Amino acid sequence: MFSGAIAQVDGAPVAGDTVALHAADRTWLAHAAWSPASNIRARVWSFERETPIDGAFFEARVRAAVRARLGMLDATHTGCRLVHGESDGLPGFVADRYGEVAVLQFLAAGAERWRDALVAAIRDATGCSAVYERSDADVRALEGLESRAGVLSGALPEPLQLIENGLSYRIDVARGQKTGFFLDQRGSRARIRSLSSDRDVLDGFCYTGGFTVAALAGGARSVRAIDSSGEALALARSNVADNGLDGARVEWRDADMFAELRTLRDARAAFDLVILDPPKLAPTAQHAPKAARAYKDANLLALKLLRPGGLLATFSCSGGVSAELFQKIVAGAALDARVEAAVIGRFGASADHPVALDFPEGEYLKGLLVRRNA
Ligand code: SAH
Repeated sequence: MFSGAIAQVDGAPVAGDTVALHAADRTWLAHAAWSPASNIRARVWSFERETPIDGAFFEARVRAAVRARLGMLDATHTGCRLVHGESDGLPGFVADRYGEVAVLQFLAAGAERWRDALVAAIRDATGCSAVYERSDADVRALEGLESRAGVLSGALPEPLQLIENGLSYRIDVARGQKTGFFLDQRGSRARIRSLSSDRDVLDGFCYTGGFTVAALAGGARSVRAIDSSGEALALARSNVADNGLDGARVEWRDADMFAELRTLRDARAAFDLVILDPPKLAPTAQHAPKAARAYKDANLLALKLLRPGGLLATFSCSGGVSAELFQKIVAGAALDARVEAAVIGRFGASADHPVALDFPEGEYLKGLLVRRNA
């Protein structure tokens, strides 16, 4: 519930309090968490009036979310997102599992208020040996919350390794991005692996090498992997070695991707498969115009680097850019690049990142698989 939709406040609720939302005609709507500092002034806990918002409520929601992921964890996948905020009925709360470690984020005033109950519920539902908190995302400031990170219980294994699609990845839960890994790309990485045989691959915005490792495992001839984070690249190198893959096939570049694409163009470099997985360029629709220019720029240059018949796997994790707008941007890029191409597939977040039907905003990750005409 945005602040502009609120006509009247009865009483004096403070951050994190559970409030009752009523429509203008006084019809009861929902139990929600109050967040006076945020434009998102109230986040719904439940649309059922009879449901008390107490410790048992949070325990049940966490248990249901964890149970829904049971089938997604086995020897070839030792991690997944356990709780995905609104889409698991727990706005502002995220929990990721990496083996025996759970990493939690409390990103809104309501989730912060129920922190102890949520931590206990995660511990009970998963039996994880260690719990780590990464409540240091920028969005905390919008909620008037300080950033906080550190071990909540147990000890982190060193190194902490995740198995995804049978491949191992080192996770730096303390310093990595988000909770340390981009679990939402699990399905996309499997797809990239299946498309990589004998291809020269460009992995743009490679982070800790999620796609690079998948491409090498799929038989890529070479991978050029680029990221502006030296720390991420160091982990990416370890990940290639840990999986027994041929590091000589990879050329790493610690560089700005937008500049590097121009360097590659000027050097007349050519690839059979280009992956573009940039960071969130448009957190909200307000940022969309500027983000659209950056997406178009990168995609235009990437399309030009493709050999005839080559593939572009291009992603946007910006909530402010819809799937429809993203496709228009890529179409505009192809037009300006004078490249004829077609969409032959689509990517989205893996099943542990559900999109509640009453929360379409949760569909942030989209990707297109584009083939340049031969
Ligand atoms: N594909 C990765 C996730 C990418 S996340 C995976 O599978 O795990 C986005 C990455 O972009 C981050 O690692 C960040 O360091 C990097 N990044 C952000 N801005 C960049 C820029 N201008 N040039 C190169 N890399 C950038």
